[in-house]
Amino acid sequence: MSKKGILIVISGFSGSGKGTIVREMMEKYDNYALSISMTTRVPRQGERDGVEYFFVTKETFERTIREDGLIEYADYCGNYYGTPRAYVEEQLNAGKDVILEIEIQGALKVKKRFPECLLLFVTPPSAAELKRRLTGRGTESPEVIEQRLSRAYEESEGVEAYDYIVINDVLESSVEEVHSLVEAARRAPVRREAFIQQIRKELKEFAKGAE
Ligand code: 5GP
Repeated sequence: MSKKGILIVISGFSGSGKGTIVREMMEKYDNYALSISMTTRVPRQGERDGVEYFFVTKETFERTIREDGLIEYADYCGNYYGTPRAYVEEQLNAGKDVILEIEIQGALKVKKRFPECLLLFVTPPSAAELKRRLTGRGTESPEVIEQRLSRAYEESEGVEAYDYIVINDVLESSVEEVHSLVEAARRAPVRREAFIQQIRKELKEFAKGAE
């Protein structure tokens, strides 16, 4: 049987640049598959259904929850966001490292359900920089920016639950950093189970001989 991929959860404050990091990783390396979430939020200008998100009604979202079609879901600033189950399972089984770009409540649910997943948190170097980026992208109204900044404060309380923090200052370095953390995770004993069992068996044989 081929090896299962790693489930990678990337969270970060809105405006941290995590989306850009993920896009770059998808372009640069071919071991990753990106999960497309389902949301009830209205599309931003230029966003397409089935590309950035599956944009659905509240009814459809709630039906999908009832049918157990989501690995996790959360309410973020008044909208539902969730991870469709089928794609993630299919890609992991095919050996791809699957990226979920999701917020913190969802990340913690994924960790409970898949304890061996990798949790990464992306942050800008400072709060001032976060505000500058959120204002600069020009896609949100001042009220939404305020809401996202206070949400960022709440989220900062949960950062310790993550495995690693990536301070996103220079994009290229952050992409490399995330990729090397995934490569390091591949070497964790939970993912080397077969190897460990094998060498243990071999050592046992040697130990017997030495008796
Ligand atoms: P945005 O509206 O800016 O696209 O996303 C808002 C927040 O929802 C971001 O922090 C994003 O990572 C998160 N998010 C996107 N998809 C999901 C999902 O499937 N589940 C959860 N829990 N959060 C998500």
